[in-house]
Amino acid sequence: MNETREASSIVMSIWCRNGLACLLYIEENSKPIEIQPLPHTYVVKDLVPDLTNFYNQYKSIEPWLKRKDVKAKGDTEYFQSREDRAKLDGMYECILCACCMTSCPSYWWNPEYYLGPAVLMQAYRWIADSRDQFTEERLAWVNDTMKLYRCHGIMNCTNCCPKGLDPAKAIVHLKEQVAETYKDGWKSMMTEQIVKNKGRESGMMYM
Ligand code: SF4
Ligand code: SF4
Repeated sequence: MNETREASSIVMSIWCRNGLACLLYIEENSKPIEIQPLPHTYVVKDLVPDLTNFYNQYKSIEPWLKRKDVKAKGDTEYFQSREDRAKLDGMYECILCACCMTSCPSYWWNPEYYLGPAVLMQAYRWIADSRDQFTEERLAWVNDTMKLYRCHGIMNCTNCCPKGLDPAKAIVHLKEQVAETYKDGWKSMMTEQIVKNKGRESGMMYM
């Protein structure tokens, strides 16, 4: 993992259940309460995990609007129909708490390569956005045996999300869209992308 230290704050594991400490209700009990840092993470100190790998992976999917055309003079916004806007519901609400990432067995085994549920859901959030014009490039970026196909539908991610989101469903949609739109040209397109942008980290590349 990267040596740079960045940390999360309010997420922790209470009784082996990942959750936001501010949201988890704790019944009165005479037994001691066990509080641990997020599982399967490097620990900076006490309850503070090192989430640098997670943040780098999030950065690698380029989580911002990307356009190929240039706005006409005077244009202020890229409009979207109500139906297209509704496609983002259930994804934009993610707070990047990493509960799902650190509950996912596939992520435990391959955190340096597998992008994990939150990052894949955010990749799909931009693929599903009608205003974005890099849909194909985004699909090609995640179309990788390690980055995407380590998800085996175990569903821990969806079961633990404190926001009630469903990253496993987003991953299913992502795989479907890759299968429907795949072209042989993706491989060379990705090679070009990687050469142009060496700082775009994470995942096993095509080269
Ligand atoms: S559904 Fe996929 S991402 Fe979610 S916990 Fe299972 S393997 Fe991990
Ligand atoms: S999908 Fe849910 S559990 Fe995962 S990072 Fe987002 S809010 Fe947290």
